[in-house]
Amino acid sequence: MEKRILLSSPTMHEEELTYVKEAFDRNWIAPLGFNCDGFEDEMGAYLSGKEDKTYYTLSLCSGTSALHLAVKLAGVKRGDIVLASDMTFSATVNPISYEGGVQVFVDSERDTWNMDPESLELAFSKYPEAKVVVLAHLYGTPAKMKEITDICKKHNAVLIEDAAEALSAQYEGKMCGTFGKYNAISFNGNKIITTSGGGMLISDDEASRKKAFFWATQAREPAPWYQHEEIGYNYRMSNVVAGIGRGQLLHLEEHRDRKEAIYRRYAEGLSGLPVTMNPYLDNTKPNFWLSCLLIDEGCQVAPMDILNRLNEANVESRPIWKPMHMQPVFRGHDVVSAADKSVGEDVFARGLCLPSDIKMTEEEQQYVIDAIRSCF
Ligand SMILES: *Cc1c(COP(=O)(O)O)cnc(C)c1O
Repeated sequence: MEKRILLSSPTMHEEELTYVKEAFDRNWIAPLGFNCDGFEDEMGAYLSGKEDKTYYTLSLCSGTSALHLAVKLAGVKRGDIVLASDMTFSATVNPISYEGGVQVFVDSERDTWNMDPESLELAFSKYPEAKVVVLAHLYGTPAKMKEITDICKKHNAVLIEDAAEALSAQYEGKMCGTFGKYNAISFNGNKIITTSGGGMLISDDEASRKKAFFWATQAREPAPWYQHEEIGYNYRMSNVVAGIGRGQLLHLEEHRDRKEAIYRRYAEGLSGLPVTMNPYLDNTKPNFWLSCLLIDEGCQVAPMDILNRLNEANVESRPIWKPMHMQPVFRGHDVVSAADKSVGEDVFARGLCLPSDIKMTEEEQQYVIDAIRSCF
């Protein structure tokens, strides 16, 4: 294949430019502005879906900054234990360190690859002082939210949802990114919709949004001069970038449907091989951000064999997120699992993320499938 087939790259339409042009025409390039306001309102309305509930949204420069402000809002202080997803991208858990918190990692379950409720319960029995849980929905697949929210309630813990990969995914009809007290989504270049870079903080609490806005705009106190009583950050999204987001949001459902079609074609095209697709629950509607395969136990083919073969064929694939407890930077952090051996380590050892770019044609996807089949 001459053109490289990518994992997930931006897909732009017409409307993005219209909003961006308006920002230029009105010379409104600075952070804050009408596109930011519009993007926040439109996303708030989208997330509330069929619920009759208001979500307060704050557009920011990244998903990571949204997670950082979420951790601050949750009140994490130096030395506090925070229970966090083990198998995820480091950006889920790094902000805990920004505030001096200490991550205790919680293993995954096999039905969604997300945080295992039993392991979370076990972590609370080991660390009853824990008051905050940070959970990620991997690859756009909703976690077991009923069990997780029940456990958090029982232990009086604040839930932070990292829905960076899961915008538009639903659990029993409720949107991912609305389950936690504070939630984050990302518009990084590879996500289901993108602003080139950006993120959003979501909460059902207006005062929290206000506080986060204050921190994100350098913590300026209301005074005629620059007055500061707290440490602030420069985390806001620019009015230009928000314009891209408004245009992308119009195409979110279409992107989701195309991602799902890719997943279904892989499931069909790879049938008969000793592999399964990344699993999800019947009562959920994933956004299928990335299609992943899991090689059967005992099979001699390793994920890296497939990755290398695909790479030779000019196709991008990527290993599953390497669990945080295996990362040198988190050496010495505890990891809690209700299973005999780490589920995260096992999925990492046998899994692979497949190209899920929505501009990939059916012929190109067949080419990828054929290349994978040739490995077995
Ligand atoms: C992309 C991602 C983030 C970080 O978002 P940025 O906008 O890149 O800062 C956080 N968590 C997960 C799970 C992600 O995939």
